[in-house]
Amino acid sequence: MTNIIDGKQIANKIKENLKNEINKIEQKLKLVVIQTGDNPASNIYINNKKSLCEEVGINFELKKYETITTEELIKEIEILNNNKEVTSILVQLPLLKEIDETKVLEAINPKKDADGLTSKNIGNLYSKQEAIIPCTAYGIMKIFEEEKINLEGKNIVIIGRTKLVGIPLIPLLLKENATVTICHSKTKNLKEKTSQADILIVAAGKKDLITKEMIKQDQIIIDVGINRENNKVYGDVDFEEVKEKTSYITPVPGGVGPLTVIMLMNNIVECHKLQTKNLL
Ligand code: NAD
Repeated sequence: MTNIIDGKQIANKIKENLKNEINKIEQKLKLVVIQTGDNPASNIYINNKKSLCEEVGINFELKKYETITTEELIKEIEILNNNKEVTSILVQLPLLKEIDETKVLEAINPKKDADGLTSKNIGNLYSKQEAIIPCTAYGIMKIFEEEKINLEGKNIVIIGRTKLVGIPLIPLLLKENATVTICHSKTKNLKEKTSQADILIVAAGKKDLITKEMIKQDQIIIDVGINRENNKVYGDVDFEEVKEKTSYITPVPGGVGPLTVIMLMNNIVECHKLQTKNLL
């Protein structure tokens, strides 16, 4: 039987717990989002973050720059790093193409790095130390936890090798004793890999990349992809064709997406804890 995973329901449960936790914190938490340019998809994501911040009781500020240089942006981040009223800083990606993304992300104080994308946080995650975990990878782990999917000894294939998904999932899944394979755009014979997986996590950004022929019976599929076509959103998996063959599958929209934003809220609380306990 196929279980369609309700990401919204899982996110709502986490949200209620977070609201209680935030209520108990004396200091008002604050997220500052930095946006460069005017990417339409980024505008939607930022609005979602703003609404959720308001709902859980976190102050929100957007700093939007039509044009800015790498050096100027780094200066702005340093000011926010030193501002005690700012709990977390999030640089909305993609940045304007002339800006050096690595330099900008590295400028964020790791204790304020709500996306967990600084090398300090990624490095700490790999060396089993205190770290802020990138939101999407963290959200996927919450799905496994909430659905009570045991990962020990499972063959898990991930498609996509970015810092948002594939890279942080490696240590998180290894910790649960899974066997992890990473595939990417240069992987040869993808079908050979995907059809061997007990669990397939797809984050390629390619509509219909995964078809029925590429998976095995009763596979668990986590579809991270977001592909917009004619005002509709699709994942990377041909959902209608594939779902009957799976034991669990996340839909798009309504699967991983809601978990990503709620884990951002969770990470803002984590940032606060790291700052007050002086950890990291
Ligand atoms: P990206 O878009 O920067 O890169 C794509 C990755 O997929 C690369 O590692 C590439 O090697 C791999 N890839 C591309 N085509 C492939 C193919 N044909 N075969 C095998 N591998 C292939 O990656 P990203 O920023 O991690 O985003 C991936 C997708 O996930 C995008 O659609 C993005 O919108 C979506 N996303 C969704 C959420 C969410 O909350 N649901 C969060 C983050 C990203």
